[in-house]
Amino acid sequence: MSTKDIRKMQDPRHEFHREGYEKQQQEAPGLQSEMKPVPDAGEESYQGTGKLRGRKALVTGGDSGIGRAAAIAYAREGADVALNYLPEEQSDAEEVAELVRKEGRKAVLLPGDLSDESFCKQLIRDALEKLGGLDILALVAGKQVAVEDIQDITTEQLTKTFEVNVFSLFWIAKAVLPHLKPGASIITCSSIQAYQPGKNLIDYASTKAAIIAFSRALAKQVASKGIRVNVVAPGPVWTPLQVTGGQLQEDLPEFGQKTPLKRAGQPVELSGLYVFLASQESSFITAEVFGVTGGMHLS
Ligand code: NAD
Ligand code: MG
Repeated sequence: MSTKDIRKMQDPRHEFHREGYEKQQQEAPGLQSEMKPVPDAGEESYQGTGKLRGRKALVTGGDSGIGRAAAIAYAREGADVALNYLPEEQSDAEEVAELVRKEGRKAVLLPGDLSDESFCKQLIRDALEKLGGLDILALVAGKQVAVEDIQDITTEQLTKTFEVNVFSLFWIAKAVLPHLKPGASIITCSSIQAYQPGKNLIDYASTKAAIIAFSRALAKQVASKGIRVNVVAPGPVWTPLQVTGGQLQEDLPEFGQKTPLKRAGQPVELSGLYVFLASQESSFITAEVFGVTGGMHLS
């Protein structure tokens, strides 16, 4: 884990781990704490400046990877944070909760399966009740399973991937919108895969393209309420998703090496964007997609 000052000017090619990664496999959803090396989600490196003081945020997938980076950054910017994740990820989630509480902010742990509509409704009810409202929704959770041949994508995998990645966004948005005030911000998570879909990720890439259409349409619908919706589209980032079947094992040593910056990203490299999109600094930005890809631009 990096302890360096990420605000210091430095060469982005060398700032973080830049080699490939050793092969490693965990059962999905996996634990960040068991990855080699452990990703940097800003635990020691992200420093806040109070940009979200008093806000209330729900982060799905907040236990690990990109969601963890968003949750830590939100707390350091002064927000109370509710985290959703799967029950198997309790230990990762507790680490995040401890970091949030260290900032003097409230951390609420709300484990459960987003592929279940009734859970999505309950999640919003619980987050609203335990935080006393919601201002920021960082909907980061996602399912990704690499399969070489379309014939081997089971209907079960196809359905689950769409339920977690796309349907849950509908269910959560429907439940939360009546409670959001002007100034609230919703941030969804697409991928470079929406623009440059890989041959082993047909189902996943399709969901990531759907997320962009969903988010842009929703942004237009809720602009009249003063609510903004934007999309983050990461490139290769070192997270549990990649070691739990998101990549084929043989692709891990080369993971991220083909970006122009010749390395994979670390979750903390998305922290600033998640804060910006949640904060009032992005007040004139909605229905937009932001790539964080090491140079594999969205097109
Ligand atoms: P991650 O494994 O740390 O996060 C994914 C999270 O999704 C898990 O922690 C888990 O809590 C959650 N999740 C999965 N299935 C769920 C379910 N049924 N119910 C509730 N939660 C569930 O990996 P990450 O890479 O940080 O992934 C976060 C997002 O980033 C995902 O949407 C992913 O598609 C997207 N993304 C990642 C990359 C990358 O290279 N890591 C690239 C592009 C997009
Ligand atoms: Mg996780």
